[in-house]
Amino acid sequence: MKAAAWFLAAAAFAGSVAVAEAQDYPTRPVTIIVPFSAGGPTDTVSRLVAEAMSKDLGQQVLIQNVGGAGGTLGAGQAAAAAPDGYTLLIHHIGMSTAPTLYRSLQFDPTQDFSPVGLITAVPMTLVARKDFEPNTLEELVAYIKENGEDVIYANAGIGAASHLCGMLFMSAMDAQMTTVPYQGTGPAMTDVIGGQVDMTCDQTTNTTSQIQGGEVKAYAVTTPERLPTLPDLPTTAEAGLPDLDVTVWHGLYGPKGMPEEIVTKLTASLQTALKDETVMQRFAELGTEPVTDAEATPEALSELLNAQIAQWKPIIEAAGVYAD
Ligand code: ASP
Repeated sequence: MKAAAWFLAAAAFAGSVAVAEAQDYPTRPVTIIVPFSAGGPTDTVSRLVAEAMSKDLGQQVLIQNVGGAGGTLGAGQAAAAAPDGYTLLIHHIGMSTAPTLYRSLQFDPTQDFSPVGLITAVPMTLVARKDFEPNTLEELVAYIKENGEDVIYANAGIGAASHLCGMLFMSAMDAQMTTVPYQGTGPAMTDVIGGQVDMTCDQTTNTTSQIQGGEVKAYAVTTPERLPTLPDLPTTAEAGLPDLDVTVWHGLYGPKGMPEEIVTKLTASLQTALKDETVMQRFAELGTEPVTDAEATPEALSELLNAQIAQWKPIIEAAGVYAD
């Protein structure tokens, strides 16, 4: 065979193998990278969704925790993976803040991923060790204004939701705290409960049972409405800080260039998982709910991602916080 004809035949063969692989997908376990430690809120949401998707896809869907650098390490690893549907990523609002926060990000959230769909949007709560002196948000603000440098605020690194919430909190009260980064708020919460650090701001998917069980002191929820799961907790607006308004949305992605057929299968599986009884029940207990089918789509995820990048950019620039 002449070289050109051989090349065309080989390319056609490779193409049909790729199509057959996409049709049969998945034929082996799928890994979802969670860019934070095990035991935290992103991990909790991801494990519930992965379990339900496993049932639907007929293959194990495993979680790999790759914490560090506010979620950017794990996201970078997912962006660099083969786009074959066997390495995915569940990330949160950090996908939209990282491009402004990081001077040299190793990936572009809008170009280097194949969006699959939104998952859920989770309120945050300001919490502290249970013996922390201030009892209300008003007292907390006054205390931080006086003792800011001595107050240790735990977050999951620059780019994490806990970082964003802390940044909004500090600019809303015009005072600073000392921040300590963790690889996720699972371990950060352990240290708040243990009293090694003073406070944090974290998703209700990691704070609801600790608040209900009295393991931590809670000051406010960062959404305009109170939560049915924590009815006594005031909103930040009610407690005097309306600018501290943040909801942590999560999305499912694959690396850029994932075959259309695989994206479609994953979107359908995500939509099925979000109607799973255990997922719906646990999400409700943790103060959130799954998104609708219309939102669990690639289009809705990329629209929100773009809108959120534009929304957070001027806010981060005004705060003047950057990382390398
Ligand atoms: N909630 C964490 C954050 O601050 C991350 C995590 O551990 O899920 O972004």
